[in-house]
Amino acid sequence: MDKAKLFLLSILTFISCKSNKGIISVKNGLIIENARIISPENQSLSPENYIVLDGDDIIFIGEVKPNLKGPFKTIDAKGKYIIPGLIDSHVHVTGTDALSEKEELENPEIVKRFREQLPKSYLYFGYTTIIDLGTAKPERLSEFNNADIKPDLYYVGGGAVIGNGYGLSNWNDDIPNFIYQENETYPIPKKYKKENHTPKAVVERLVKSGAIAVKTYYEPGFDPMQAPLPTPSKALMEELKSEAHKKNLILVVHGNSLEAHDFLGNAKVDIIAHGLWNWGNYSLDNNNKIPQAIKKTLDTEIENNVKYMPTLQVINGLKALTNAEFLDNTELENVLPKQLKDYYKANADTMYTNIFGDAPKAIIIRNFNRLSNQGKINLKYMYDHGGVILFGSDTPSSPTYGNPPGYNGYLEMIEMESAGIPLHQILASATIENAKAFKLEKLYGTVEKGKKANLLILNKNPLQDITAYNDILQVIIQGKIMNRNTLSAREIIE
Ligand SMILES: [Zn+2]
Repeated sequence: MDKAKLFLLSILTFISCKSNKGIISVKNGLIIENARIISPENQSLSPENYIVLDGDDIIFIGEVKPNLKGPFKTIDAKGKYIIPGLIDSHVHVTGTDALSEKEELENPEIVKRFREQLPKSYLYFGYTTIIDLGTAKPERLSEFNNADIKPDLYYVGGGAVIGNGYGLSNWNDDIPNFIYQENETYPIPKKYKKENHTPKAVVERLVKSGAIAVKTYYEPGFDPMQAPLPTPSKALMEELKSEAHKKNLILVVHGNSLEAHDFLGNAKVDIIAHGLWNWGNYSLDNNNKIPQAIKKTLDTEIENNVKYMPTLQVINGLKALTNAEFLDNTELENVLPKQLKDYYKANADTMYTNIFGDAPKAIIIRNFNRLSNQGKINLKYMYDHGGVILFGSDTPSSPTYGNPPGYNGYLEMIEMESAGIPLHQILASATIENAKAFKLEKLYGTVEKGKKANLLILNKNPLQDITAYNDILQVIIQGKIMNRNTLSAREIIE
């Protein structure tokens, strides 16, 4: 072969390789054209791109349209915005929100409809990944996962509560993964074996159950008139963290008081599952300045890289019990079955009394406004000083109608914005920051090749307007395109 022929052959090979490269085989493809992608990491908006999904994976992103071989659908996203599906890292899919187990037994139709709607309600507001921080009932988790259309669900496999502490009062509750801490006042009942309730034994069980994190609690209780509930010792927390990390699990700890945050910040836990809104005897001074003791605690969390989940909606969800008009909000029709909304309306007064007894509403409102303000001021302080802020709505945080699934996450975003958190940070907290904190960033958090095909197509730019999160055109979940209205709880009249 002479040199000229060799040259020609090499060019031809080059060309054919090139065109081969332009062909992408798909089995169940979806191409999104004119896709402007918002990156949560650098807050940029890409030029118009082609995104190719195949089944549950993002397999291509580029400015040149590839040739697809195999069956595929096309959508045109001209003028829209593409963001990664949102991650809510603090939910509970345990029960029928605000209904006791007895009420659930008495209202099977409501329970059935609620459970059918629940996965769709999260998707309706764009939450394509949720992390359950506490459900001890594996059957509820698998039931949730059995739905055809549902967010990706991760869990902690039941709280690793401290024996006879918060969440396990009087050993009455069925919490299989409690941790036993020697305590003369609270000896372990005979029916349990101590060796099954060491940090090591509990972490091993959690790993087997598929949990991605260990959740424990630092909660002396909410009533200053009562003796404090047992809380974990430093040594126990250290041991639990070390056992969790050995198995590649994250340590997430409940705490919302100064005492709890002080303890947990110094213990260098991975994530605190609530903001610091309970300031004990401290309050804002006349100049609206955060007291020194609170600042010092937040500074320790920032320095120790302890991630902070503000969960501002915990306070608002409880406060909503003072105002049954909350139930007239038409957004609720998208996320709650009508029967449940009617049930809430009929029982609103009882629900208030169950939590607040005969305390006058005016006092509850005043106290909760103060707590809410303290939570927001601390969140802003964390942001201003470089703290890592995670998005978690704590849905539902208590037996209240004030934390409706999906919508509660949207309300949490609005609260974050009103606390002074910029929109790019809210997007990052609800995507890449959550993904990194829970070691899920290989799958989620950005729109990139190799990640899961969970995307939102928005009509508005979420870096300019928080209401973009309530203006979703389509939700792509596990590669399936859903028009938003098909996820609503409203009876759809064709
Ligand atoms: Zn919670």
